[in-house]
Amino acid sequence: MTPLEEKLARRIAATGPITVADYMAACLGDPEHGYYLTRDPLGRGGDFVTAPEISQMFGELIGAFAVATWMMMGSPSPFVLAELGPGRGTLMADLLRTGRVRPSFLDGARVHLVETSPVLRRAQEQTLTATGVPIAWHDRFEAVPAGPTIVVANEFFDALPIRQFVRSGDGWAERMVGIDEGGRLAFGLRPLGGPTGAAEPAIAGSPSSSLPLADGAVVEVSPAATAIAGTIAERVVRHGGAALIVDYGYQGPALGDTLQAAKAHRFADPLLTPGEADLTAHVDFAALAGAGRKAGAFVRPLISQGDFLIRLGLAERAEALASGKDDAGRASIAADVERLAGREAMGDLFKVFAFSHPALALPVFDADA
Ligand code: SAH
Repeated sequence: MTPLEEKLARRIAATGPITVADYMAACLGDPEHGYYLTRDPLGRGGDFVTAPEISQMFGELIGAFAVATWMMMGSPSPFVLAELGPGRGTLMADLLRTGRVRPSFLDGARVHLVETSPVLRRAQEQTLTATGVPIAWHDRFEAVPAGPTIVVANEFFDALPIRQFVRSGDGWAERMVGIDEGGRLAFGLRPLGGPTGAAEPAIAGSPSSSLPLADGAVVEVSPAATAIAGTIAERVVRHGGAALIVDYGYQGPALGDTLQAAKAHRFADPLLTPGEADLTAHVDFAALAGAGRKAGAFVRPLISQGDFLIRLGLAERAEALASGKDDAGRASIAADVERLAGREAMGDLFKVFAFSHPALALPVFDADA
């Protein structure tokens, strides 16, 4: 048993089974044993690799997007450049390097990083001090000061806790984490109270007609994700700006059980090594879009990461980087392009989602921008 499993087993024995959301939050964010609080999970020696860690081109193209967006906003100075879950700071470093093409962009940028992990905060500080751009850290987006804002988030929303509801018979049950006879963590179901179907609207906040009714069907919701998307949307509606969110996920409302654990670049059992494996769920982009619209933001349709990067000039950037390199160098850049944009790799699985102030046109998403 991991130390966190022992801690959770004691908690469950004392107060009963916990929701999948509470379990996820503990696995990732427990102050003593939480996955993100105790390690740097990114890269070769870690558990998974993200797009910014694959190639500098990812952050550079997002930098090009950010600079173009800032100009569409009327080049406000100062402005808030916020990133949620910045990992090692690689994306922000590549973005800021690209920002040098517009010195006034860099002069105006106040970088605000939303990060809960002390280990990753240190990594971000190391990566970013050389940029000379002032940087502040926050635990939550709410603490980021108001003002015209550009938000970027790569593989952040998939780390936010989800609740899972399972159709059983006429009603719904919530999937819970309890302990079995052997004292190990095990999934179970807690029926939702009330008469037949009474709790349905409370589940997804979506019309019950869009919910699957087959026995065993799973619906996931992430109150944390919709709350953060809503807060960002309020911010950009009020003060101007836009948000760019990159992650793997679906258009909703339901795609079954997407809770997954990753350890040493392989899938793992989500209950087996709590605190020592990464735990994620697919992002429900329709729910984020709903939260954005509710706040009055202009929500764009989802596009694939591959399309997004290609429209921003991935091929041209790769060509420029490859010039002057030997065969091995060129082959490695070509392989990075394939990993980032290829349909078999991240290109299709990962989606790019954006919303903005209602009067702001966005590069890539709006034809005339
Ligand atoms: N964006 C980076 C890292 C992705 S990993 C990249 O693409 O490489 C997820 C990141 O989100 C980590 O930095 C992690 O510490 C952070 N994170 C996870 N849950 C968080 C939460 N609830 N609040 C703030 N940051 C969180």
